[in-house]
This record gives sequence, C-alpha cells and structure tokens, in this order.
Amino acid sequence: MVKVPNGQMVKWGKGSCKQAAQSIGEMSESALCSGMSSTSETGPRGHAGEGGTLVAEPVLRTAEMHIYRPTEPTLGTIVRNELCTAGRKAAGFVRHIEIDVSGTDLVGRCLPGQSIGVIPEGVDANGKPHKVRLYSLASPSRGEDGEGKVISTTVKRAIDEHWETHGLFLGVCSNYLCDRKVGEKVKLSGPNGKRFVLPARFDEHQYVFVATGTGIAPFRGMIKDLLGSGCKSTIALVMGSPYSTDLLYHDEMTKLSKEHGNFKYITAISRESNGAHGKLYVQDRFRTDAEVLMPLLSDARTLVYICGLAGMELGIFQEMARRLKGEALEQYLKVDPAAMADIGAWQRSMLHKEVKPTRRVFLEVYA
Ligand code: NAP
Repeated sequence: MVKVPNGQMVKWGKGSCKQAAQSIGEMSESALCSGMSSTSETGPRGHAGEGGTLVAEPVLRTAEMHIYRPTEPTLGTIVRNELCTAGRKAAGFVRHIEIDVSGTDLVGRCLPGQSIGVIPEGVDANGKPHKVRLYSLASPSRGEDGEGKVISTTVKRAIDEHWETHGLFLGVCSNYLCDRKVGEKVKLSGPNGKRFVLPARFDEHQYVFVATGTGIAPFRGMIKDLLGSGCKSTIALVMGSPYSTDLLYHDEMTKLSKEHGNFKYITAISRESNGAHGKLYVQDRFRTDAEVLMPLLSDARTLVYICGLAGMELGIFQEMARRLKGEALEQYLKVDPAAMADIGAWQRSMLHKEVKPTRRVFLEVYA
C-alpha cells in the first residue's frame, strides 16, 4: 500500500497502477508503474526502487518550449543591467540583466530552471551570423514585474587569455549581453528545457538547492516561486563562491531567509575562511551544517537540485553517501556495493554507472 496525496491508500500490484494514477491526478500511469516492485506505506507518492526503497518521485511543472526558434527570434528590451556580486571588487564580473518581453509570446510562459536563447549581433570568425547561446533564467514564473513581462538572467563576463598567443579572449555573448544598455534590443529564442524545473505541487516536497557561482540563477527564480506561493516546506540553499565578494544575490537571499523561517541560506566560501570552519566547498556544508541538512535530506519528500560547475556533483554525492544510510541514501543515489565500500575513490566517470542519481536529484552542471 502507498499513501497518495488525497490520503487514499493504494495497493501496489497488478492493475493497481491505473488506480494509483487516477488517485493522484497529474501523474502518468507509466511513470507510476515504472520500477514498482515492493510495498511501503510511507511517502506522498512514489514507487519502490530496485532496492525495495520507496522513492517519492515528483510530478514536474509543465514547461513550454521553443516558442521562438533561433531562426525566427523575437526581440526583448533591456530594462536593467547591474552587477549582482556582493562586492564591487569581486574576482569576476557578474551582472543581473532584466529583459522586457512585453508584446511577445514569451510573456508568462518562462519557468525558472529553463533557459532563454540570446543571439548576439555580428558575425563569427568565418563571417557567419553568431549562433544562439543559452542562459538560465533567474526570474520567477511571474517575472521581475509580477506579470511575467520582464524576465532576467545572470551573466558572468567570460574573460581569458589565449593559451598559445597570450592574446585576450572575450566571450562573445556574455560580453555582448553585459555591455547592453537599458533600452537596447536583444534577439531572443526559447524557452528551452523541461526537466530542471520545480514539481507541480510545491507543498508535497522539501528542497535542497546546491549552487556554485552563476549556478544560483535558476534557484533564485525557484525560491521566489516557492516562497511567493506561501509554500511552507523547508527550503535550503547552499551557495558556493571563491570569495565572499563573489556571492551572487547575497543581500536578496539574506533578506528572504530573514523574512521566511522555512528558508535556510548557507554560504560556502572556497578561498577564505568561513569562521571557525576554514575554507569550504558546498559539499562540506553537509558536515558543518548537518543539523539543518541531514534531517532535510533524510525526509522522504526532499528533492535535491544541483547547478553550477561540472565536477561539484561528485563531491556532493560522496558526502551524501558518507552521511546518509540505507533508504535515506537510496532516495537519491543507487550505488553499487563495491563502490560503496570505497566512497573516497569515486571518480566522475562512475556517475550514472556505479553511482546513479535517482529522479529526485536534478543536475545541471557545465564546465
Ligand atoms: P565561480 O564563481 O568560480 O564559483 C565556483 C565555486 O565552486 C568556487 O568557489 C570554486 O572553488 C568551487 N568549486 C570548484 N570545484 C569544485 C568542486 N569540485 N566541488 C565543489 N565546488 C567546487 O563559478 P562560475 O564561474 O560562476 O561558474 C559557474 C558554473 O556554473 C559555470 O561553469 C557555468 O557554466 C555553470 N552554470 C550552469 C548553469 C546551468 O546548467 N543551467 C547555469 C548557470 C551556471 P575554487 O575555484 O576556489 O576551487
């Protein structure tokens, strides 16, 4: 038997999938049936995973995609463009950029967790028009204006040196966007992506968001959606930056955490001391802030979202494997017994093979 959201108990077994699917409305029958093999009475909705553990799976919000193709983009107008680092002398230049999409079909149809396409002006080294680049939305579903007319994104200027020539390398689109003045138009496509979004019913889950750098962008919108809806679930954001001056949206997150007792904002600074703890990566917070994060992660309703630098997920998964036992861990990770015997030896190449995240872990990482 499993308890579904309306409180009914549904018995798993032949023919029960349809009944369960009808009981919980939006969840598809196939999704419900996948992997069911044993019985349990816990959790708001879910299936029994291969190891027999009840895994509560979220039904995601429906995300619209490709309203505008890159070949037929629409135009938005820059209405705000400002640094969003905690200090003006941060190691990187990261800007919060708001774009008015009034009069386009994008109004009210962009969800946090999705990205928007930007097509910079000009041509590339081969004389061809620049291709589209994708940027994570930082705005909540209701937009920055409350009406879905103003979307936003978080852009870090890509500035580097060519390895061989020592010449300056400036990323085309990040610098194009960061240079845009209020009132200027930009070509937009999208939105893109439908898997890295919040569940349809916010209150049925608790949330652990883990970000490094600009990986905070989707979580800003998601957290505003959750708190703005009056969601009473516990929501934790662990945010990692090299220096405290590089924290993004720091004042805003601090203010939200003071206003909402259910929102825990935890920072991890990698190149400065974090009080008594010394230098920290985001995954170290699972140890230093275990009293907040471990009960949350042990909850059968919790979803984990990870966004930022490729590689961060390995350390997070290792820390989860060290600290969560049995069913609590199996909610998020299915680990081969041999790999479980030596967690410290895990490599990134083992992810999705010996170490498989479940559907309660949402991952968006880029190099
Ligand atoms: P950043 O400011 O340089 O911050 C990254 C932080 O992560 C630093 O504190 C860094 O520490 C730390 N870090 C490095 N390796 C780590 C590891 N293995 N585990 C945990 N923490 C680690 O970040 P950024 O330049 O903004 O880069 C953010 C990344 O997120 C980019 O690669 C971007 O493409 C990606 N991103 C993805 C999405 C998406 O998928 N939708 C959206 C936005 C951003 P040290 O440098 O001190 O070692």
